[in-house]
Amino acid sequence: MATKTVKTYCRFCHAYCPMEATVENNRLIALTPDTSNEMYGGYTCIKGRQMIDQIDHPTRLQQSQKKQPDGSFNAIGTELAMDEIAARLQSILNSYGPRSIASYNGTYSYQNSAAHDVARAFHAAIDSPSYYTSVTIDQPAKVAIGPTRMGWWNGGSHMWNDSDVAMIIGNNTLVSHYSIPGGIPAFSPHNALRDGKKRGMKVICIDPRVTEVASRADLHLQVRPGQDAAILAAIIAVILADELYDKAFCLEHVEGVEQLREHTQRFTPEAVSAAAGIPAEQIITAARMFAAGPRGTAVTGTGPEMGPHPNLLQHLVQSLNAICGRHYREGERLPNPGVLTPMGPRSAEATGPQPQWLSDGVKSRVSEDICETVVLSPYGPLKEMPTAVISDEMLLEGEGQIKALICVGGNPLLAWPDQEKTHAALSGLELLVCIDIKMAATAQMADYVLAPKMCLEREDVTLLTDIWHDKPYSQYTQTVVEAEGDKIEEWEFFWAIGKRMGLNMSMTNGPIDMQEKPKKFDLLENITRGSRVPLQQIYNTEGGKIFDVPDVILDAPDPTTRGRLQLFPPGLEQELSGAYSDMKSSSTEEYPLLLISRRMKNTYNSTGPELGLLKSKGTTNPAFMHPKELAKLQIADGDIIEVHSRHGAIPAVASASNDIRPGVISMSHCWGGSPDPTANADQQVREIGSNTNRLIDNLENAERYSGMCRQSSIPVAIRKLS
Ligand code: SF4
Repeated sequence: MATKTVKTYCRFCHAYCPMEATVENNRLIALTPDTSNEMYGGYTCIKGRQMIDQIDHPTRLQQSQKKQPDGSFNAIGTELAMDEIAARLQSILNSYGPRSIASYNGTYSYQNSAAHDVARAFHAAIDSPSYYTSVTIDQPAKVAIGPTRMGWWNGGSHMWNDSDVAMIIGNNTLVSHYSIPGGIPAFSPHNALRDGKKRGMKVICIDPRVTEVASRADLHLQVRPGQDAAILAAIIAVILADELYDKAFCLEHVEGVEQLREHTQRFTPEAVSAAAGIPAEQIITAARMFAAGPRGTAVTGTGPEMGPHPNLLQHLVQSLNAICGRHYREGERLPNPGVLTPMGPRSAEATGPQPQWLSDGVKSRVSEDICETVVLSPYGPLKEMPTAVISDEMLLEGEGQIKALICVGGNPLLAWPDQEKTHAALSGLELLVCIDIKMAATAQMADYVLAPKMCLEREDVTLLTDIWHDKPYSQYTQTVVEAEGDKIEEWEFFWAIGKRMGLNMSMTNGPIDMQEKPKKFDLLENITRGSRVPLQQIYNTEGGKIFDVPDVILDAPDPTTRGRLQLFPPGLEQELSGAYSDMKSSSTEEYPLLLISRRMKNTYNSTGPELGLLKSKGTTNPAFMHPKELAKLQIADGDIIEVHSRHGAIPAVASASNDIRPGVISMSHCWGGSPDPTANADQQVREIGSNTNRLIDNLENAERYSGMCRQSSIPVAIRKLS
């Protein structure tokens, strides 16, 4: 028997842990951590180790599927399916125009390093702005609105490994395996946290739960949900009032300090303490501990970014980092300017705000206030439409209405806010195509479901995480096992459809060959052209490696290009007033509890619950509550309850948990099934969980610019179901 061991990396989530795969006659027989890897030290988690089960799982699609008139699905050859899809897309394009064709590129589309660039090339070729991703469901403020309004520091912010302090707001990296730089790195997060603490780093955690991170923090503010912006305003007010900020940095690089001081001073620790349900002294201690630094940043997780006032919260987090000067300065070495990103000059200076990005883009048809967002990437600004209102763009009749949706590696029916509306929107499409490894809830609504290769069945490079590491690290993996049957990669779909439609497709660095299907390596070389380490060198390296590249030392600011970080952009005064008013009205008598989101160890959004070992850890997303809260309502651990909001109601399994603040329910998102009553999803709450997006009206509190709606800190009430 031919047995080989291949170094590869996991793409179950965004952490990209290195692994060694043992393969016998093209079958994956073992998957173990790559203990020789110098960056991760052999770290993997329970999810990634289930990929052997996942690759051969009975629910895995082995062939593409086409919906029949009676609603059932029949297998169809992928080439034939793409012939039919291309013809239908062409017809929709001719009838309704470019904007009617949309793609939604979900969480798993990011795990294929060529998928987004080729999908964007397809959109550019048909002139359709209707490009949507999962990043604008949960963090548009962080990746787009925040930097656009305030500007950004070209040298980046302090990273975890050279920080003295970190303020972590609603981010539980030990479970989520995700953080932006500055927070606990997702790459072996337990080691990173332990090492940080060992060298004396102070960790401040703001979270309504005693999470895995909070329990290890030096200071935990166990806050009432929804008050993060007010708490940040109070922390900034203390730092400015006590003159603990970096005056020299602000004088040279920051605008609007005095206005921010004036408008945050009413957020006194005492006033915010009452709203946030924590002692005022904790706010003062957190402010002083963070300001003492002298190095380290504040970061948010997706929970607070999905709560009230996300634009304001993100702005205040960036402002806190700016007034404390938590950026790399002239003469300092950047820990990781990227391996796959282009080598460019770097100066210790700010790029100022880009207000035109908030006004010049394609407007949402839902509201003039909502428009295309501009996401900053190492390759420059990238435009995308905001997913929070995509269902409305499908339902709203008239020019520009979305008629066809290509859904790549996502499960909108479970993931998009306002599940009933999402269901109506998807039902009304003329064409729905899903690329999915299983017949997930959305795939069951599709006209075509294409069977994709899974991560170990394709070559890839760590493009997504390139600048998240704190060292110049990268890994190229070869295909570990050849996919059996008629499966394709996500980028191949867009290329094949483009070829059938006679399109000329081009990526940022050059055209794509539309005659001969390009090799993936060639596409990736196009995407990473000019990278600090040539792709070929990474390709030739076995396993992941920290590359020995020349240091990048920040130059002095260039007087001809330097900008200033703007702490008081237009609209901030009103946003602060809104947050101040909301300090009085988070929950009500009718809806006395606040529902927050959380991550669970055994799932990654809607992926995982079907896999053997992960399934054995639980098949539902319990409604975690403090035992006192359950006792008050005479609800026992394991009872079925109804959680209802102003907008909807869902069943859930009650679960007692001492780690959660009384008055709060914590549930994971992306569970459950279709809201269509014939699907009987509610009756299966113990088997499939339930969908918190049914509790949300996506247009209630829609955030300016991004349309972001409140998906965490939702006022709810509960009752026991018989
Ligand atoms: S954290 Fe787990 S799921 Fe994520 S990449 Fe690592 S092993 Fe895979």
